[in-house]
Amino acid sequence: MKYIWITLLIVSCQMPKKEKMEEHRPEYALVIHGGAGTILKSKMTAEMEKKYLDALNEALDTGENILKKGGTSLDAVEATIKILEDNPLFNAGKGAVFTHEGRHELDASIMTGHDQKAGAVAGVTAVKNPISLARTIMEKSEHVMLSGSGAEQFATLHNLESVTNDYFSTESRWQSLERIKKSDPDSSELSESDGLGDGKGTVGCVALDKYGHLTAGTSTGGMTNKKYNRIGDSPIIGAGTFADDNTCAVSCTGHGEYFIRFTVARDIAALMEYKGSTLKEACEFIIHDNLVKKGGEGGLIAIDKNGNIEMPFNSEGMYRGWTKNGEREVKIYRED
Ligand code: ASP
Repeated sequence: MKYIWITLLIVSCQMPKKEKMEEHRPEYALVIHGGAGTILKSKMTAEMEKKYLDALNEALDTGENILKKGGTSLDAVEATIKILEDNPLFNAGKGAVFTHEGRHELDASIMTGHDQKAGAVAGVTAVKNPISLARTIMEKSEHVMLSGSGAEQFATLHNLESVTNDYFSTESRWQSLERIKKSDPDSSELSESDGLGDGKGTVGCVALDKYGHLTAGTSTGGMTNKKYNRIGDSPIIGAGTFADDNTCAVSCTGHGEYFIRFTVARDIAALMEYKGSTLKEACEFIIHDNLVKKGGEGGLIAIDKNGNIEMPFNSEGMYRGWTKNGEREVKIYRED
């Protein structure tokens, strides 16, 4: 009997712990968001709804194709976010909201979980795809975050595609600016009273690849009518974006000032790392308890190292979708 116990003990000690933990890990998984806020079904036309669902599906296709072929989560996240940045429906890249001065200032960040490297860019006005600039900063500079004209110079140096600032402009964002300026010229706005959600639309993506590596990325035009070169949470590592292969990858959307003050993205990972919380428990607490108590509106997408997915939000809706081993779902409203 004694020998059986000793043998069992030796065998269990020799079992690779990593493999035991990862036995249910999917081949790949990818999650996206297209912004959280007051998005009401009652205010959405069937045509607009279809446009959003098609856009989310196109983004999922892009990332999924890369991951299916054995590509990295970093490539998948960048390519997926580029699709969303190029789509005028979302408040990132083309379709970004207007500042008080009637211009566009874009923020983005990206982080890889295996080495916890990160790149971020704030307040750029002429870089077509800020997420690619964030990645270039991560890979080709010794810094994490660049801003304004210096970031533009760095983009030129690395041959990133540039555009004139009016490339980002759309009529509906202009209307939003005009409306806010008329009602309350000093406020910057996240939620639109028309319920269509055209004042939001920050985009984000998190992914797990077949190598077990996580990546998170976020890109935004920020808040309509923002002034004084305001910067939100999206380009701030630990606030709007975070990734660590030992826990999870997170991309946030919502009222940035709250996400910065309460380090939302990092808190999800910290709860898992220090307290042993599951991804679900961490998301539940941060978004539906802590953030609500503090008055912060918004949501996030998150994926853990085993491919578990969460998409919590405390607003009326959040454009969102996921794909995992060939399965997928896209959703918009709270009741979905
Ligand atoms: N978090 C973004 C910001 O505050 C806005 C958003 O997610 O809608 O800039």
